Parts: sequence; structure tokens; C-alpha cells
Amino acid sequence: MTELISKSDIDKRVGELAAEINRTFGREDVVVICILKGAFIFTADLVRRLDFPLIVEFMELSSYHLAVSTDKVVVTKDIATDLTGKNVLVVEDIVDTGSTLRFIHSHLAAKNPASLRFCVLLDKPAKRKKHTPLPDFTGFVIPDEFVAGYGLDYDQKHRNIPNIVIKET
Ligand code: 5GP
Repeated sequence: MTELISKSDIDKRVGELAAEINRTFGREDVVVICILKGAFIFTADLVRRLDFPLIVEFMELSSYHLAVSTDKVVVTKDIATDLTGKNVLVVEDIVDTGSTLRFIHSHLAAKNPASLRFCVLLDKPAKRKKHTPLPDFTGFVIPDEFVAGYGLDYDQKHRNIPNIVIKET
């Protein structure tokens, strides 16, 4: 496993993202939605650096690869909070083709939030599909490699690695 991003570079970038998000939200109440499972460590680190009033919700998705370039995303755990008129910040681990982000965007936009923003730790733009909403906050743009660690899995394992590594498949 080759290191792609060190623990100290992650810490530094999470601090910068938090500062950017703090400037964006000011003193508004925010619902932070952590997308399970991959974003659990990133969300835990990020929210401890946010200085506005917030609540944390968790949403879990599964995607099924039906055929080449047709992925079906389903919600396996939805949020309980009513989002009507709320400011929402979605925290996601990685955006690859963009199918998941696009699905989350339409699923949550239908709940009538006042605002809907996305913070993504890793952006893998190589296979991005058209019409994917752009994340408002991005940690690192990375090459088209399968990565694990810092919450991201390889076959459900390696989420506990503190840095981000390239998993040779
Ligand atoms: P997309 O829908 O953008 O193609 O894929 C997003 C989802 O695929 C992510 O939320 C993540 O669960 C998974 N994924 C995509 N690339 C990687 C990767 O390099 N490592 C891991 N662990 N998951 C990935």
C-alpha cells in the first residue's frame, strides 16, 4: 500500500476546509449530514473545528452496479430530521463518477432545505459524469486510483488506517 496523503497533510487540509466553511456559514444553524460509512472519520474531525451551531445526522447509501455506467443508488438509512428551511452541509468521502453525489443532491433537495452544500474530502475527476453538481468544498483532487484509509474501506477493511493509501487491486 503506497501512501497518497499523509496524516499531517489531512489534518492541515481539514483545518483549512473548516476555516472556509466557518466563513461561509457565519452564525446560522446547520444540519451536517455525514454519508456513511466512508465519511465518518472525516466528519468527526471536521465538526470539531466548526464554530457555528450544528446538529449531525447520518445517512447511508448503497450502490448497485447494474451495467456499465448505470449505477443504482438506494438509501439504506435516511435522516430523521425535517430539513424544511434548514441550511444543510453534506459531508462525503469521495466523488468518483458523481452518481452518488447527484443522487444525494436530488434526494435532499426534495426535502426543501434553505441551502444545500457539499463538502467532499477526495475528488477523483477522471471518470466524472456530466451534470454532476460541483462540491462547494473539496479537500484533495486525486488521480484515478482506488484509495483506502481515514474512513474509506477496501472490502470493508482498512477504514482505521490514519493516512490515505493507494490500494493496488
Ligand atoms: P461515485 O458515485 O461518485 O462513482 O462513487 C462514490 C462512492 O464510491 C463513494 O462514496 C465511495 O463509497 C465509493 N468510492 C469511489 N472511489 C473510491 C475509492 O477510491 N475508495 C473507496 N474506498 N471508495 C470509493
